Amino acid sequence: MSGLLVNKVIHRNSGWDPKRWKINDLSGLAQSLINKPLQEGSPISPAGLPLDDRDQPTNGAPSALPWRLDIAVQTPAHAALGDLLSYAGAEPLPPGTLVRVPLGRREVLGVVWNEPVSLEGTEPDMALKPVGAALDALAPLGEGWRDLVAFAARYYQRSIGEIALAALPPQLRDLSTAQLARRLKRKSAAGPVAQTAESSNPVALSAEQAAVLARIDEGTGTFLLAGSTGSGKTEVYLRCVADLLAREPEAQALVMVPEINLTPQLEARFKARFGDEAVVSLHSGMTNPQRLASWLAAHSGAARIVLGTRMAVFASIPALRLIVVDEEHDPSYKQQEGARYSARDLAVWRGQREKAKVILGSATPSLESWHQSRPAEGEDPGGRYVRLAMPSRIGAGELPAVRLVDMNLQPPKTVISGALLDAIGQRIARGEQSMIFLNRRGYAPVLACGDCGWKSECPHCSAYRVFHKIDRTLRCHHCGFTERVPRACPACGNPDIAPVGRGTERLEEHLAELFSSVKRPDGSAVRIARIDADSTKKQGALESQLAAVHAGEVDVLVGTQMIAKGHDFRRITLVAAVNPDGALFSSDFRAPERLFSLLMQSAGRAGRDAAYLAAQGATAEMWIQTHHAQHPLFMALRRHDYTAFAAQQLDERHAAGMPPFAFQALLRADAREQSVAQGFLNTAADQAESLPGADIVTRYPAVPLAIQRVANVERAQMLIESPSRAALQKLLAAWQPLLHELRRTPEGKGVIRWLIDVDPHSI
Ligand code: ADP
Ligand code: ZN
Ligand code: ZN
Repeated sequence: MSGLLVNKVIHRNSGWDPKRWKINDLSGLAQSLINKPLQEGSPISPAGLPLDDRDQPTNGAPSALPWRLDIAVQTPAHAALGDLLSYAGAEPLPPGTLVRVPLGRREVLGVVWNEPVSLEGTEPDMALKPVGAALDALAPLGEGWRDLVAFAARYYQRSIGEIALAALPPQLRDLSTAQLARRLKRKSAAGPVAQTAESSNPVALSAEQAAVLARIDEGTGTFLLAGSTGSGKTEVYLRCVADLLAREPEAQALVMVPEINLTPQLEARFKARFGDEAVVSLHSGMTNPQRLASWLAAHSGAARIVLGTRMAVFASIPALRLIVVDEEHDPSYKQQEGARYSARDLAVWRGQREKAKVILGSATPSLESWHQSRPAEGEDPGGRYVRLAMPSRIGAGELPAVRLVDMNLQPPKTVISGALLDAIGQRIARGEQSMIFLNRRGYAPVLACGDCGWKSECPHCSAYRVFHKIDRTLRCHHCGFTERVPRACPACGNPDIAPVGRGTERLEEHLAELFSSVKRPDGSAVRIARIDADSTKKQGALESQLAAVHAGEVDVLVGTQMIAKGHDFRRITLVAAVNPDGALFSSDFRAPERLFSLLMQSAGRAGRDAAYLAAQGATAEMWIQTHHAQHPLFMALRRHDYTAFAAQQLDERHAAGMPPFAFQALLRADAREQSVAQGFLNTAADQAESLPGADIVTRYPAVPLAIQRVANVERAQMLIESPSRAALQKLLAAWQPLLHELRRTPEGKGVIRWLIDVDPHSI
């Protein structure tokens, strides 16, 4: 490359404007910060000792290389090494270039982050290690992508290197430049999207779909598509993508779904419309080579549509013009470990940054998104999203009638009420399908001794081990500790230890007994199937089980929330929730929101095909067995009245000063003893007193987590809350270094780990 060319490239790619992002103070860099963290403070290991040499770039040969390159690498999280490390290079590699760099004794993948700095005329620096090979067969990662990563790092209090490297396909780390070049050659370049049978002959839109589509076409920004289950939201997404690709030949779209198990169905629909070549998937269920191939296709522009789970929000999609977040309310969009990002929120940010339209779709929007899409009223200018509604189901289908069964009026120990049993029986007689939903897997949540009161507690956690009858084990769902079921009570020897409560496995068994003498229309036995995390452990098991349901090979389907979401079942006419009460009185303020949406989504699996219902002469029903039949949540559900439910919840949240009217973060600490974990948090809170923003950020006292001990580790948390997001962010940013520091003092000595969760989902 000639110097001139390189300079041009750099100019075009220079995305890093420190004034805008203020992640680092880059001003002092040119002099001396070389192979040192850019953040203040020296790297320290958790034990309080200086880091082992191996974890730091070691002094290499004196370097006369003319460029200094600041590179994002994945440094050990505990090291607090800061965001970027500096290296020397022979070429001024443009920001976004992937390179291999030495880190300690290893060579790791890194991303050139800043504009190269010329070292000409400065003293040669002995400490700068040279960069290794650049993966220059690959176009540099774009400015928009780098901005997204930098924003996520700042907002969720992580390092740039951690987020950047986690966003890249793992296999990139292992490929040589030559291997990578070969793979890239195999990929075809972007071409026009193929005409498929379906694309040339799409369905006629409903009036609601057409109206919504027109609003999205002419508008900009973020849209909240509040569309009932079965209102045809997916068709709206397909048309938006089709319109975009017709208008802009180079454009790309990102479509996200909450769960891996929803991707195959969606992928099939998109491929039928746009052809196989145009669509790639990205999710954690793929093999590394598959993931790399998808990622490269997206990065090169060959893939026009990227479908994926939350991780796809970080895909490199240079010509991104449209982002769809389906089932935007779903908790799975929030990563629950490492960098605890919300893919939904990042999608909105990314859309803004890239001037791409964003469509958030749901039948039960998150209260955050609902609030953010409120229309202007009086003094209130309204939210930033445009709210669009599709209340009707396709084909004049009705939403299922909701039937509440008051379990207080049933004989004690009733599992399935007589009326519900009859209703399911009628479905079986007509050859229709029913779905029974119970959000608890295993056979029974507890095994207990009636004589001495022994219960199947986990010795390592403050939780019971679940009885799994299928392999006769007691399994802890928190730490994984598994044992054979004892023959007799381990405490008193009583041979009569009995399961207490009911999971999907036991429900399936119970249903099999109840329907053992019932026959299907052709005289054969009733077919009962179960879908949950246990039944779908084997690769491909879920796909084949879902296929069996779609093919009509199942009469009664039992399952956890896995079956409640998204699936377009055509022959299910009855859905039942047999024991949803647990969440009604939870201490977590989001529990009612989650329960309402789960039940509404479950109801949405029934009666999706109006023509089928009509032909069957059937009506769709949602049954709920509850001890609290008068609860307002069920009253709203009965009317399918999300709006009323949301208004009531938002009123409560407003009065209590909770999200979306306040912003929260959790500071968590784990230790062998609860007092140590809490002590760390409380001391940290004291230290935060003088930090910027502290006056309008409330720090609540540290408390144990709901499940206090997992795998012999005591867990504590502290809620941090403010009416100002900016103040909260400011405080957290200033707090980070103090927390690292505190960890090294006697106060932090017993702390195993700590973390910050911004916008936490459960409290
Ligand atoms: P949602 O995502 O809103 O729950 P879907 O997009 O899955 O709903 O649509 C429900 C069903 O209706 C699907 O089987 C879909 O193919 C069908 N459908 C959607 N739009 C139309 C239309 N305009 N005409 C006929 N069928 C449609
Ligand atoms: Zn006993
Ligand atoms: Zn355990």
